[in-house]
Amino acid sequence: MPFEPTDYLPYDFANRRHIGPSPEEMAEMLKVVGADSLDALIDETVPKSIRLKTALDFGRPMSERELLFHMREVAGKNKMMTSLIGQGYHGTVTPPAIQRNILENPAWYTAYTPYQPEISQGRLEALLNFQTMISDLTGLEIANASLLDEATACAEAMTMAERVSKSKAKAFFVDRDCHPQNIAVVKTRAEPLGIEVIVGNPDKMDPEAVFGALFQYPGTYGHVRDFTDHIAKLHEHKGIAVVSADPMSLTLLKEPGAMGADIAVGSTQRFGVPVGAGGPHAAYMATKDAYKRNMPGRIVGVSVDAHGNKAYRLSLQTREQHIRREKATSNVCTAQALLAVMASMYAVFHGPKGLQAIAQRIHRKAVRLAKGLEEAGFKVDPQAFFDTITVDVGPLQAAVMKSAVDEGINLRRVGETRVGISVDETTRPETIEAVWRAFGIVRADDNFSPEYRVPENMHRKTEYLTHPIFHMNRAETEMMRYMRRLADRDLALDRAMIPLGSCTMKLNAAAEMMPLSWPEFSTIHPFAPADQQEGYGELVTDLSSKLCDITGYDAISMQPNSGAQGEYAGLLTIAAYHKARGEGHRNICLIPMSAHGTNPASAQMVGWKVVPVKSDEKGDIDLEDFRAKAEKHAEHLAGCMITYPSTHGVFEETVHEVCKITHESGGQVYIDGANMNAMVGLSRPGDLGGDVSHLNLHKTFAIPHGGGGPGMGPIGVKSHLIEHLPGHPETGGVEGPVSAAPLGSASILTISWAYCLMMGGAGLTQATKVAILSANYLAKRLEGAYDVLYKGPTGRVAHECILDTRPFADSADVTVDDVAKRLMDSGFHAPTMSWPVAGTLMVEPTESETKAELDRFIEAMLSIRDEIKAVEAGEMPRENNALKNAPHTMEDLVKDWDRPYSREQGCFPPGAFRVDKYWPPVNRVDNVYGDRHLVCTCPPMDDYAEAAE
Ligand SMILES: *Cc1c(COP(=O)(O)O)cnc(C)c1O
Repeated sequence: MPFEPTDYLPYDFANRRHIGPSPEEMAEMLKVVGADSLDALIDETVPKSIRLKTALDFGRPMSERELLFHMREVAGKNKMMTSLIGQGYHGTVTPPAIQRNILENPAWYTAYTPYQPEISQGRLEALLNFQTMISDLTGLEIANASLLDEATACAEAMTMAERVSKSKAKAFFVDRDCHPQNIAVVKTRAEPLGIEVIVGNPDKMDPEAVFGALFQYPGTYGHVRDFTDHIAKLHEHKGIAVVSADPMSLTLLKEPGAMGADIAVGSTQRFGVPVGAGGPHAAYMATKDAYKRNMPGRIVGVSVDAHGNKAYRLSLQTREQHIRREKATSNVCTAQALLAVMASMYAVFHGPKGLQAIAQRIHRKAVRLAKGLEEAGFKVDPQAFFDTITVDVGPLQAAVMKSAVDEGINLRRVGETRVGISVDETTRPETIEAVWRAFGIVRADDNFSPEYRVPENMHRKTEYLTHPIFHMNRAETEMMRYMRRLADRDLALDRAMIPLGSCTMKLNAAAEMMPLSWPEFSTIHPFAPADQQEGYGELVTDLSSKLCDITGYDAISMQPNSGAQGEYAGLLTIAAYHKARGEGHRNICLIPMSAHGTNPASAQMVGWKVVPVKSDEKGDIDLEDFRAKAEKHAEHLAGCMITYPSTHGVFEETVHEVCKITHESGGQVYIDGANMNAMVGLSRPGDLGGDVSHLNLHKTFAIPHGGGGPGMGPIGVKSHLIEHLPGHPETGGVEGPVSAAPLGSASILTISWAYCLMMGGAGLTQATKVAILSANYLAKRLEGAYDVLYKGPTGRVAHECILDTRPFADSADVTVDDVAKRLMDSGFHAPTMSWPVAGTLMVEPTESETKAELDRFIEAMLSIRDEIKAVEAGEMPRENNALKNAPHTMEDLVKDWDRPYSREQGCFPPGAFRVDKYWPPVNRVDNVYGDRHLVCTCPPMDDYAEAAE
């Protein structure tokens, strides 16, 4: 035999692709850690009492080629139809340059939420463009950088209206012409908060009886109404007016701001973002300047850096859940950053004239469609519309819908006798002719002169998108370079590890990312008949069954489209369970003080009272405190929310006891599953005593972070909770929905499914083990230089570890901020800062980083420690050193250098690459200035010229 047989696995098999350290590197890491083998390390780290007894088995893992072949087959089971259902979801054309340079570009999709502004200037600029676009289109002063979907944005607007309204009323009015899913999600949100929702005809609204009202514009059945008078009446009674508006229509129609609206919300899906069976897309919210501090979600603002240059950052962060906890007004954390970037680029690509042209074409197509129907004797409603009409077909409803399906077209069923039709950017003359045929009309779409059905008083009179960014030269060369320039300002996973504790920034493999762009997944309307979505059905069934095996739960709901949304859905499920048993009074929730900020925020959203529980000095839940509080509140205990392994990165052995105490006191156990990356294949929350958990698919299951979304936060529940899972008006169920679409952001489930299929049970388990090895390796190497807080009884950490930087405040005036910014000079994104313990860094390397990258990070951290020592020893001034002046820009390097350390030390600290050096585009950003001088739309162009110079 000429060849030695080899058992070496080629790159495209799970372990070599996904798991960073090679077998040889792992052996070296184990030696440093002081463990005989990977399994020995795991035995020391993960307590026996919580270990899974059987191995995860999903059959043979697929290679990349097998996966893509399989996914093609499943995609083929979705029927590609032309959906004219509308109802908030429309066909759209994603400009190929945006698809390739943003949606399919890891520089954009692997970035983290821009909490470290110096290394996020590119996406912050794109998001500021988004805010400017929304603010302009709605005619309101300030917009946020996206919300999860239109329906949840409506619900957020309702609670915001309640906060800012000076009315004493307890009810909220909802226009009966709102999209059904918007009404349903608003009702879900209102119920536990004791808000009465009145759905009705706006003309019959009693403005005195409500603190606010929500109107849909245009209405779900097409009506274009002027709400100016309704809003004026509301204002007379101190009510707040919310308008949910289609941004495309606003290029032609009178904008909400001009009607006097206080808040505008809506979806930017049709700005180039594929429908994807429900998502992900970016919802928006805009409001008046007076209410800006009450707006949920993240807001990008303009500030200055240490040299007084313009720099972007997230504003008003003190409003976020991490700080306000149970007093937080919203739990929104992960939102839809990547999709907001896409929508903003769509506006940059088309500019105001292009958008208007697209909107006019859409409208003219709708008018032609209506005229053809009218001339054949059909009654079309309404008379004034933008893109949507309904047709009364009497007893022929089913027949017309069926004929349309035979033509490859989905229409909308409206009531018992009507059919709804929404046209869009992609509608072609052939589509219109096919719709006519479904109504028995045979004619060509060629003999109409352009006509408009928007009354004069509803025409938009104001300008929008006047900023120069929306007037660039639209040559693709220029566009491509703009997107590239912005991407280059940012530090994403495609350049360096992002060791953010609790956020699990792991590989998002290219093969996993590909299927979501396929039209068989991306063009499906979320409300298309189930027999057209069999591919999605198969995906969801199989992924659910795998996630059940992984978590030990009995059923999964895919509806929540973020982790925080999962928490909220899970708590609602628990609340419904209590209520069904006649124990609806239970409203106390025990939450450890170290919990993620979304936990208490979600609890308050279901109307519960949060009772914080202490941690002991080891970081574990203080069992005595927990027991005492559970017993004290037993009569009213709704449940507890714990995180496992704890946010301190430790597998607490007391978890069974905590669950037992909660159950004995009549409560249910919510286990926050954000840390599943430490558990998959080794331990299951369902076995520990959890009744419900959410999984962050955008952490553990390989969906990329997108610079702050999208995400998916499905929940797993035990069998007794199944009947109380979220329902949906389109798909049924007893409970109300929490998201606009039945399967949340369905199209990105393809990523997590692909991840599971290619990893297999053994691969997923190996990933968990290596994540734990990497964290212990880091902890070991950094120990001595930094104190590693909270270890398990055997001296091991779980998949993350907390490094203490607090002592340096006294010894050297060095803060955790200084360390984080100095890491940028070495080309790293900082670990999670000041959570769960103020003044510390929480490091989570994940299984995907190679030993070389871990070593580069360690080298950077050790050299930072040496720099601190130099300050401590008095060799470096306390106020002027490389830490205080970090990050350093190229400008610093070439300018006069009057620092007590060398240019070399300042700009090329250990860890930094010589040739591939990452240069932060700005110096340290001034947070206080930014909040005092709040500017949340694009600044004048001069500033851009300056920045580009
Ligand atoms: C990330 C995280 C969440 C929130 O998830 P989002 O998807 O950002 O809403 C909740 N709990 C913990 C522990 C987390 O790390």
